[in-house]
Amino acid sequence: MKKLSRKFTINYFKPDLKPVMEVELNERFIVETQDCYGGQVTNEGILRPEIDISIMNLATGPIYINEVKKNDVIKIDIENIEIGQRGIMMLTKGLGVLGEDIHEPTTKMIPVENQQLKFSENLSLPIKPMIGVIGVATDKKKVHTAVPGNHGGNLDTKDITTGNSIYLPVFQEGALLAMGDLHAAMGDGELDGTGVEIDGKVTLSVSKVDDGQLLNPVVESPSAFYFLASAETIEHAIKTASSNTVEHLMRELTLDFEIAYRLLSAYCNIQISQVVNKLVTVRVKVPKELLPQLFKGK
Ligand code: CA
Ligand code: CA
Repeated sequence: MKKLSRKFTINYFKPDLKPVMEVELNERFIVETQDCYGGQVTNEGILRPEIDISIMNLATGPIYINEVKKNDVIKIDIENIEIGQRGIMMLTKGLGVLGEDIHEPTTKMIPVENQQLKFSENLSLPIKPMIGVIGVATDKKKVHTAVPGNHGGNLDTKDITTGNSIYLPVFQEGALLAMGDLHAAMGDGELDGTGVEIDGKVTLSVSKVDDGQLLNPVVESPSAFYFLASAETIEHAIKTASSNTVEHLMRELTLDFEIAYRLLSAYCNIQISQVVNKLVTVRVKVPKELLPQLFKGK
């Protein structure tokens, strides 16, 4: 199986990315990722104000997917996320929703033992691995890997995990996929500003949806589709995710606006992905009872 080393990274998603690996549709491959600090935090004496932020949130890639063209939609199946042996959580003044309550920066290393995160001698909790950053080359803009958008990027959505899939619109030939910023665990909101940051390896494959249309990323779990949207305010993100969902239901289920809007309200849930990045991310959860397949006959 092809494996891309974590030394090949980008810090911007942009239109003109140079691929460092090529894969076929439906080929399984492995991508190694650095933790979001680029490996520079090796002990608890290293504090957040001291680190080099220019190598933060690097994504491994870009990977060229053969036969993928502009305006396609790709489906990325996440087969496995293998995390490293030690997570990191750094706090510093101003970070996260209670940042004003932090007076001194602190760094916590969290060992992974037997599928558990060991926060202290007496406190271990299960790992919940997920991918924080996953995206493709953008249409026109240059977007830092710490920012989310319609190309994916720093979505920090806990459902981007083993066994699930993410659909992304394609803006450039070959898609030019990159990913990083794995978390050993992260709750909705990412409230203190970080997940349990960790390095790792992702096993995945990419397929293509012919004639699919998407404005923003969609995540699929065994029981639901999640329509993601990122914006400067949570209200704006909710409006965009809701509008994308209603338009999708109208098109794929051949409904008029009024019934699609009623179904949104009756059966779909708005959920918060993260409120700590430059743009916040929400998702509308659409159960498969309502939408069995994302695209007609596919
Ligand atoms: Ca992140
Ligand atoms: Ca992170």
